[in-house]
Amino acid sequence: MKCYNCGGGSVVSKKRNWVSYVNGIKVVTPDVNVDECQDCGEVVLDSSESEKIDHDVAKYFDKVLVLDNRLKEVRKGLDLTQEEVAKRMGWSKQRYNTVEKNKKVPSILLALKLASALECDVNDIYKLKIEKKPGMSINLARS
Ligand SMILES: [Zn+2]
Repeated sequence: MKCYNCGGGSVVSKKRNWVSYVNGIKVVTPDVNVDECQDCGEVVLDSSESEKIDHDVAKYFDKVLVLDNRLKEVRKGLDLTQEEVAKRMGWSKQRYNTVEKNKKVPSILLALKLASALECDVNDIYKLKIEKKPGMSINLARS
């Protein structure tokens, strides 16, 4: 088979995982059949494979990434009070409280300092979580 893009002759059919991004969410469609040119890298999908990808991507149109805050769980795991963590940070208890309750999101620097004060990794206290977009009552995704 000849490549329509470069005219080269080495187009190979293969299966691969297709990666798309929707609202920053990584969506992987496994085992997509593609024709790939070994010369220029051009990739061609047939319509059924495209539909498979569209179907997976559509599931995320009404989703967003939100910040999942686990400060309270981690703090309690260390048997610390809010006051004690606030002291470690050089903050008032109120300031720590607004951050723990997710009313305020700290800067990256402060999140790293919080992780240090709580003897953990920043991913243990802040993670991205996929949620339904607020106010989206119509689900556009086909099931
Ligand atoms: Zn080519």
